[in-house]
Amino acid sequence: MRFMTETDDDPAPPPATGEQQYPSIALVNSAVTLPGGHVVDRLGTPASAEQWLLEHELAPADAGLREMCTAQVRSMREQIRTLFAARVAELPAPASALTAVNDALTRLPTARLLRWDDGNGPYRAAPHPTTEIVDHALATLAADAADLLTGPDAVRLTACGSTPCTRYLLRHGRRHWCSTRCGDRARAARAYARRTRPQPD
Ligand SMILES: [Zn+2]
Repeated sequence: MRFMTETDDDPAPPPATGEQQYPSIALVNSAVTLPGGHVVDRLGTPASAEQWLLEHELAPADAGLREMCTAQVRSMREQIRTLFAARVAELPAPASALTAVNDALTRLPTARLLRWDDGNGPYRAAPHPTTEIVDHALATLAADAADLLTGPDAVRLTACGSTPCTRYLLRHGRRHWCSTRCGDRARAARAYARRTRPQPD
């Protein structure tokens, strides 16, 4: 398995159905396994993770992410992926994944702090150190996953049916692949299986 850097051409397929609506799906899909086993991880480095958070309006530009914060976002991705997999398989959720999501939700800083400007007097402002930014992003992603899993779209949540793809999507009718490319590959694989299957006479 080879990890691509951001300098490689982006061979990842376009966003799967549901990613625009649910940032938690986009998060789970931020690491893509391509045919041949290459993994493109949009959260592979602090710089690429910062770019991803910015694109999804989860952090301001120049948030100053460190590796530790980036690892927290990747960890949330794995926990939410675990919950999605449990939901799709109709299995109980691992307690550790539930705890991680609920911890992120309860850490959400809601209060804007009271500040005092020497010239202009009191005002309120959100705290802005990097940890606050990351906590806020994680809480937003956790809340989004919780909303998705408990909302009407939960029944449409599905894993892409085209190996080795590991992306999630919201199913549209019977379509259960994340992209045209995955659909084409799945159809080609089925056609190949039909051709090579021994025919009964
Ligand atoms: Zn796919």
